[in-house]
Amino acid sequence: MSISPPQLDLLCRVCNLPTAPYREEFVAAYIKAWAAAPPRADHLGLHSDRWGNLYLDYRRGPRPKRTLIFEAHMDHPGFIVKRQNRDGTIKAEFLGGVPPSHFTDASVGIWQPAGVGPDGIPIGRWIATRVINAKPAKNKNPIIVDLAGVKEKISPGAIGMWALPDAQVIGELFAARVCDDLAGVAACLCVLDELIAHKTACALRVLLTRAEEVGFAGAIAAARDGAISKKISMIGLETSKTLPHAPQGNGPIIRVGDRTSVFSSSLTRFITMRAGGLADQDSKFKFQRQLMDGGTCDTTVFGAFGCDAAATCVALGNYHNMLHDQSVRDAGIPTAGPLIASETIHLEDFASLVRILVQTAAEFRDYRPDLSDLIRRFSRMHREGQSKKLREKATKIGH
Ligand SMILES: [Zn+2]
Repeated sequence: MSISPPQLDLLCRVCNLPTAPYREEFVAAYIKAWAAAPPRADHLGLHSDRWGNLYLDYRRGPRPKRTLIFEAHMDHPGFIVKRQNRDGTIKAEFLGGVPPSHFTDASVGIWQPAGVGPDGIPIGRWIATRVINAKPAKNKNPIIVDLAGVKEKISPGAIGMWALPDAQVIGELFAARVCDDLAGVAACLCVLDELIAHKTACALRVLLTRAEEVGFAGAIAAARDGAISKKISMIGLETSKTLPHAPQGNGPIIRVGDRTSVFSSSLTRFITMRAGGLADQDSKFKFQRQLMDGGTCDTTVFGAFGCDAAATCVALGNYHNMLHDQSVRDAGIPTAGPLIASETIHLEDFASLVRILVQTAAEFRDYRPDLSDLIRRFSRMHREGQSKKLREKATKIGH
């Protein structure tokens, strides 16, 4: 089963939004309009915390004992204009993990906003410029960038992104300026739409965080504020750098850990069993269970603060827009310089991730944050046969 047209449409809309670390306002405006559109308004609550993280709440049926949260981040590495000089050249900061060596001869678009449409889609246009010079600030971050002069007046604070085209489908891949993590945001919204459409009796909170790319700022703020507790189970949705053992097209990934920590054993197992159930029903259904240690994600933050936290992701091509290799060009993936390209995900991976997460939310009432079901199974194995055999030939020492 491949991605449905409404899901692809939502994925495109979300991944076309301008965004940068600490500058997620266009994503937030879209979410607000999306949640208010019928029939969602009758089924979803939306609020923000004092840090600007967003919370979408769905519940049908009784209040559950544990709260399930799906989490994704709304930012992506990008430029913030500091000032425009008299000659039209622009001084900007680049926030997020891309080394200066990748900036050489790259083209950049500065978003010139003209409001937001009733459907939450920003109105405006990208003004084209290019990198003249990029060097790290004294403390290494952010990267200070000089951009070529433009005729238009650019205001300080304008958001810039690599000059890559809007989202498009290329073969089985989805290519966009941003997949990390607006595809994760889109997956959360697709899950909510599925729960609403099927009147699923369950409860789900979606948490959309800010400024992950500069050190998990929104997640840390939410965690410190007590947005998480021992009664919460949190599942992160990410796009994560493709690794040799975790290629695109092999299915979405149940992420057992990242570069910094390993995640909740019981929650990881619960998700894996839901995925396994889908694979039992559909022989073509694929998923992977992997350590994705190409980077650290918000799930490590929530786990460190004591939350029962697990993660899922889809394998990301051209991580942080860094061109992976020449084959990317050959495949027709758009580029914006010798070393800059659109990020990609596999459409089937995305659609299957949504299915696993819908199933996880729908069956979450059966979840226990321990391995008591395993203990029961092991105890039964011990009682039914193993203990007798062990006793029969036990070498006894010291009796
Ligand atoms: Zn990310």
